[in-house]
Amino acid sequence: MPLRSQNSNKARIEDFAATVAEIENTLRHLAATGCRGFDCSETSLKTIKTWGRKIPFAPETLKVIRNDLGDCRRCRLSGSRKNIVFGSGDPHAKLVFVGEGPGYEEDQRGEPFVGAAGQLLTKIIHAIDYTREQVYICNIIKCRPPKNRNPRPDEIKACAPFLERQIAAVKPDLICALGTFAAQTLLETQKPISKLRGSFYQYMGIRLLPTYHPAFLLRNPAKKRDVWEDMKKLMQALNQNSS
Ligand code: URA
Repeated sequence: MPLRSQNSNKARIEDFAATVAEIENTLRHLAATGCRGFDCSETSLKTIKTWGRKIPFAPETLKVIRNDLGDCRRCRLSGSRKNIVFGSGDPHAKLVFVGEGPGYEEDQRGEPFVGAAGQLLTKIIHAIDYTREQVYICNIIKCRPPKNRNPRPDEIKACAPFLERQIAAVKPDLICALGTFAAQTLLETQKPISKLRGSFYQYMGIRLLPTYHPAFLLRNPAKKRDVWEDMKKLMQALNQNSS
């Protein structure tokens, strides 16, 4: 995309985000001063906050975003990674899976979900009548944390703008957040995955369904039943969108 149009796009997003912040602040103020006749509940205010992260009017391509990321050194994880794991699949997929971050296998190969958990994810994708090539798969962070420790807040913060841009570029109908970490990060909540899973939420104006992480399923096979229930909801929502 030409630089001028990228800049004006960015300005429009910033204007929009500022307007949304103003709406949110005004409603908070009205709620605090006891005004009636407006929906000033925390639930509504949280929804309004997500408006500011809506998809830009003219999204960029994944190629542009990957180029911008370059040989990323924005956080300490660059020091120990072998490969950046950007994402894989259809750049215009209807469905995006978001996991936590690369493990050993993914770091070696530079591809998301290619280890044991990845094989299970592939089976889940096949069970809903898709292939890995027909969906888009990515993670909250793009570099493997040493010894697979949890990503730190500053590492997530450094990576987040790229994930947001990827989602905006793919523009899926639905997002499936895999596991506690992805669901809590995208939804900005501390609620446990057991409470979050199975319901639809909004992320950047896109419907998001959290479910258990395939690595968790490998340790707790009895939970596969819950994931299957979630996948049925996902399929139904996908079919609704395409009809
Ligand atoms: N677990 C994740 O969350 N992501 C991967 O890419 C692999 C394993």
